[in-house]
Amino acid sequence: MSQMCCKATRIPGSWPRYKPCKNKAVIEVDGKNYCGVHDPVRLAKKSAERDAAYREQSARRTEVWRLNSAAPSLLSAGIALIAALDSGDDARAAYAAMKSAIAKAKGEA
Ligand SMILES: [Zn+2]
Repeated sequence: MSQMCCKATRIPGSWPRYKPCKNKAVIEVDGKNYCGVHDPVRLAKKSAERDAAYREQSARRTEVWRLNSAAPSLLSAGIALIAALDSGDDARAAYAAMKSAIAKAKGEA
């Protein structure tokens, strides 16, 4: 492929000016020639990978936030359950509170 890339590149400076890309075309997509830098297939794949990485990172942050916000209620429910079990009293209410706190920490409630 001896033709040039069809994309334009911005000329550095404060005023927006463009010049044709100086690279030789290496791929043809929908009848237009593109260089390796402006290859739309490669750029779409790169964008999809970046989006997937962002979604994964966002999901991880959300899980950390959920666990951090559930930690105080988990701790207090655990302390209450141990106190109820140690005293020999009826621990069913503390047990239910502990189950509820665990479900909340797991994101089920
Ligand atoms: Zn180009």
